[in-house]
Amino acid sequence: MENIDRFGRKITYLRISVTDRCNLRCIYCMPASGVPWRPHAEILRYEEIVRIARAAAGIGIRKVRLTGGEPLVREGIVELVRELHRIPGIDEIVMTTNGALLSRYAETLAAAGLARVNISLDSLRADRFRKITRVGNLEETLAGIRAAQEMGLSPVKLNTVVMRGINDDEIADLAGKSLEGLTVRFIEWMPIGGVPAGFAGKFVPGDEIKARIEERFGPLVEVRAEGPARVYRIPGAAGEIGLITALSAPFCDRCNRMRITADGKLRPCLLSPVEIDLKGPLRAGADEGKLSELLKEGIGRKPYAHGMVRDFPRDRAMSEIGG
Ligand code: SAM
Repeated sequence: MENIDRFGRKITYLRISVTDRCNLRCIYCMPASGVPWRPHAEILRYEEIVRIARAAAGIGIRKVRLTGGEPLVREGIVELVRELHRIPGIDEIVMTTNGALLSRYAETLAAAGLARVNISLDSLRADRFRKITRVGNLEETLAGIRAAQEMGLSPVKLNTVVMRGINDDEIADLAGKSLEGLTVRFIEWMPIGGVPAGFAGKFVPGDEIKARIEERFGPLVEVRAEGPARVYRIPGAAGEIGLITALSAPFCDRCNRMRITADGKLRPCLLSPVEIDLKGPLRAGADEGKLSELLKEGIGRKPYAHGMVRDFPRDRAMSEIGG
């Protein structure tokens, strides 16, 4: 099979960053000074993204996630979803967003074929939400979450990066959102783009996150391990709780994904600096066969496990790779 890597993992999932730009400045994702935006000419055009996705479908990719930066700040994003939805073989198109613009777009995104959204939400307190995102407005994101639920972009998943002394006292409150049918995923903070000051003291491992939830709700029921998440449920809750533990318990053995950066580099592993240029060949006239070769090269170069425990990626900020 063309999409099985050297270690027997089947690669069926492609995460595409459609822009490096963002309307928020989350403290764990971007430096306070921001990241210089790349000029438009360096960013993949939509028709280039569609050509890559078509080649990817041809070698066995079945799921595409649009991310960034913030995918909803790029003009024409709904049209891109519609185009991707037409590609035979792509069964599911999903998006990761900060939700700030989602109430405006949820209806048209759903009509264009978007299946689900993951929405970043690191606090339920307006002042703290502003501090973490530096410029965000909690009400806008909550309105985006409601719009996604109303439009059936579900199960709506919330992504929370846990940081000690910053939002760890809200772990149980956020987990409680699963009682309202939302899936809540707690993500271990990863030191991407350089290790932040005081990182070790602020890092909260998955086991501690789970213990904090169990202090309030009692023992969690283990549901399954799915992609990067170990999935649990508060007994009787409609929604699930996921723990994404890249550092404390890496899930590389079940990794099924590759990424495309906004500037058109195929990145077989989030945490390894290996990249394969797709934009240059695309603009030099590469046909679908050539693109398939490059995608297969990426699968062939996927490392067995990420090197996070030994070293951290410093080559790009998370907002540039596409989380
Ligand atoms: N702007 C969108 C958003 O806010 O969801 C999509 C891009 S964002 C980079 C994707 C996801 O990566 C978010 O859920 C965010 O919380 C997560 N993320 C960003 N930096 C991270 C880090 N250093 N460690 C763990 N997760 C991170």
